[in-house]
Amino acid sequence: MPTQHTAVEAPEATLSRLRATFTTGRTRPTAWRKAQLRALRALLTEKHELFADALRTDLGKSATETHTTETGFLVNEIDHTLRHLDRWLSPRRIPVPLALAPARARTVREPLGTVLVIAPWNYPLQLSLAPLVGALAAGNCAVVKPSELAPATSAALAHWLPRALDPEAVAVVEGGVPETTALLDLPFDHIFYTGNGTVGRIVMTAAARHLTPVTLELGGKSPAVVEPGTDLATAARRIAWGKYMNAGQTCVAPDYLLAIGETATEIEPHLTTAIHEMYGPSPAASPDYGRIVNDRHLDRLLALLPDAGRVVTGGEHDRTTRYLAPTVLADVPVDTPLMRDEIFGPILPIVPVPSLDAAITFITGRPKPLALYAFTASRRTKQRLTAETSSGALSFGVPNAHLTVPGLPFGGVGASGLGRYHGPHSLDAFSHTKAVLDKPLLLDTLRLAYPPFTTRKDRL
Ligand code: NAD
Repeated sequence: MPTQHTAVEAPEATLSRLRATFTTGRTRPTAWRKAQLRALRALLTEKHELFADALRTDLGKSATETHTTETGFLVNEIDHTLRHLDRWLSPRRIPVPLALAPARARTVREPLGTVLVIAPWNYPLQLSLAPLVGALAAGNCAVVKPSELAPATSAALAHWLPRALDPEAVAVVEGGVPETTALLDLPFDHIFYTGNGTVGRIVMTAAARHLTPVTLELGGKSPAVVEPGTDLATAARRIAWGKYMNAGQTCVAPDYLLAIGETATEIEPHLTTAIHEMYGPSPAASPDYGRIVNDRHLDRLLALLPDAGRVVTGGEHDRTTRYLAPTVLADVPVDTPLMRDEIFGPILPIVPVPSLDAAITFITGRPKPLALYAFTASRRTKQRLTAETSSGALSFGVPNAHLTVPGLPFGGVGASGLGRYHGPHSLDAFSHTKAVLDKPLLLDTLRLAYPPFTTRKDRL
């Protein structure tokens, strides 16, 4: 049985230890991959309470949200992968041009080697382990670097992952900027980073030194378009659900409303009602409402509030518990700091626009978002938004839920990211698709192709 490496190990030593494992071929058999995935599943179910406690400590996460967006989400991802892995791994036959016949062509997936997963704090379990599911399913060794801003979850991962999984193939390195910088100096075979675009650029620059491929799962301002004629009460409930989940600290949360025409004012009371229905008249007392991750982020959010529009509901905060109420702001000017960067907190600005054309111009004039949501009864509007805008994902009638469709790719485009994962797309992210051609020597049908290039008659 391999030993567990609990003492702090130099990053170079961790990489060479994992590389040595990869070189033995141990991680390649499908049976090994499935055993790791089953072990990870067992860890998540058996230690569910422990991870739930860690997430409550880090983010005030409710047990239900922990289940739906962290542990339960991961179990679904593992089950889906286990169900389809054989098929995803089977070689694909590719047709061969007649001029090359007889020959057979196929593609085979091969693992990349030892990969690095760098995770953020907002879904600290899901975003450390969902990439790991893909890395293991593809037959890689992996170093996981959880976020130092979710220290309880990071410590739980560091303690349990090497105990549950093959410790010679999976390692956890804890720490912040210095530790991540040291890891980024090393020649990993792939780097999978989730977090903000500024650090994304640092990751990509470091990776370029070794020509290491990267996946960058970034964020951005994801708009929610609301059009007249839609059911505003339901739209408001769904928008509030997506926005205030995890106290707004969700990469795919609707960042702001682009409210067309009279919906800008008409939706206001529906949003207030939805918030009260979900979290009661005093959300601070609700066990289902999360907290801001740290004082720095609370200060950042509070600084966005003055002069940012009319308060429809919310705005209250409590520094001692890092509480910020679910907040809706109306008549928000587009040149406020609130509308410049991703909010990443429980503040929902309503930006009025006169028409769908204006909404499309607004969206396409800004960096490509991770998600675009639209609440409309019009098929024509859906077609136009599909054809005329670009975003990591486009979802009609519901925010955030596209992540729960295991076959859909998850990732950004442009400023919101590079690459995609989940389900079979994780296999793509963590494998090389190798071209294999096999032409028998028995009949030399290539003689016509060889020089000298004289007339065909001479050679027959
Ligand atoms: P974070 O501060 O936890 O940083 C992410 C990771 O980068 C951490 O592991 C951290 O240690 C590391 N890091 C931070 N600074 C670094 C540096 N200078 N050099 C090297 N490594 C460094 O998380 P965050 O970036 O605040 O996360 C929030 C952002 O992530 C938001 O923009 C959000 O939209 C985005 N996000 C995207 C997704 C997605 O799947 N696309 C998911 C969650 C969050």
